[in-house]
Amino acid sequence: MTDPTVPILVYHVILPDDTPVDSWPPGHRPYLSRRSEFNAHVGWIAGNGFLTQTVAGIRGLSAADAAKSVALTFDDGQASDYETAFPMLSGRGMKATFYIATDFVGQAGYVDWRQLRDMQAYGMEIGSHSCSHCCFPDLAPAEMLKELIDSRRILEDRLGSAVKSFSVPYGFACPSLIRAATEAGYETICTSDVSLARVDASVPAVYGRVGIRRGNGIEFLEGIMRRKAGVLGRMIVEDRLKTLVKRSMGRTIWHKFRHLVLSSRGEG
Ligand SMILES: [Zn+2]
Repeated sequence: MTDPTVPILVYHVILPDDTPVDSWPPGHRPYLSRRSEFNAHVGWIAGNGFLTQTVAGIRGLSAADAAKSVALTFDDGQASDYETAFPMLSGRGMKATFYIATDFVGQAGYVDWRQLRDMQAYGMEIGSHSCSHCCFPDLAPAEMLKELIDSRRILEDRLGSAVKSFSVPYGFACPSLIRAATEAGYETICTSDVSLARVDASVPAVYGRVGIRRGNGIEFLEGIMRRKAGVLGRMIVEDRLKTLVKRSMGRTIWHKFRHLVLSSRGEG
């Protein structure tokens, strides 16, 4: 029998519906979700009887619970985590995992420590997203370990509880990063590979996620939650192609190429 799976969705910024996106860097724009879209997502999840899990809470779920579960995650520690997502989630009794790049905490546009403590006190999971939002494949092993260990210690010191979960900035999870994150004591590692998270007992558990883009409405969400092959399958094909192109171009040229493509699609 195959392991049960749970969709882990990843959001970045939740913007008011009437806020223009052109002041954001081109690469970020596709991932700026609208408040009304996010509200529709959480409404659909609650209305259809799904349970929200933290990422740390996925391990050990029964097959029956996994089938009716979803994990909502937020990368980067944007101000909208607290100002928009937190009240919408807590108002419905929902949980989520917020991944924080510790160097950004308290800066303009990002959450601060008091807000993180509020969210944690409610029951939200706070995980690490490195200190500096670095690109791990560019780092030597000792630098990787430092980003992983320092961000975990800072979060644990400031928030007073154990940090078990890590999400990889830019989503690239090379084998040396997985080894370093394991050494740094993380129990779960979220990447940006498109897949459902398999519920098993491995430590660390390495989970793919489903990245939410602006315009992903209820039909998309329902396709993911109900495991409709076409919806996830299309994303996986697109993701594999992207990885192939990225590998053959090298990352620097890839970022330039992506900028051009997004601009030409009006997302840039
Ligand atoms: Zn990030």
